[in-house]
Amino acid sequence: MKISINRLRDSGKTEFPFSYDLDLHDLECSYDRPFRDPVHVSGVLADRAGILELTLEIEAPVTTQCARCGKEIHFMHRTETKNVVSDQELSNDSDEEIIYLKSDEIELDEIVSSSLLLSMDMVYLCSEDCKGLCSECGADLNLGPCGCKKEIDPRLAKLKDLLEK
Ligand SMILES: [Zn+2]
Ligand SMILES: [Zn+2]
Repeated sequence: MKISINRLRDSGKTEFPFSYDLDLHDLECSYDRPFRDPVHVSGVLADRAGILELTLEIEAPVTTQCARCGKEIHFMHRTETKNVVSDQELSNDSDEEIIYLKSDEIELDEIVSSSLLLSMDMVYLCSEDCKGLCSECGADLNLGPCGCKKEIDPRLAKLKDLLEK
């Protein structure tokens, strides 16, 4: 979706709210394509005494795999961003990101996909205490012990004792 800044300025209003769904199923994130379902975007472009501010709220249903056991996981990821939009160089003395415009239109889709990617974690787990897979036989250890004997180096075993005290 594109927003025309001239249209906002010509309308005589100071705020232009919008919301739409964006298909990002091709977008890659950590060697995965986790956005199978449409991402919902809502936001406001506001003219604050000549300074344009773009606020975005992104709601993305995520489908990915647990980094330890490989189980498919689903959750709703939410992120918010606030950017200043400008067609000229501004001195950036605030924490806000500045989006420089090449025309009078803001390309929302690019801003949404890059904000979304920045807000994602590198890895996700099915649960904080996921036990993962056995390195010997590949069994899912969340379902119970697999029966493999884990030979622990006696020197490491001593260290383990120390750490557990
Ligand atoms: Zn897991
Ligand atoms: Zn095993």
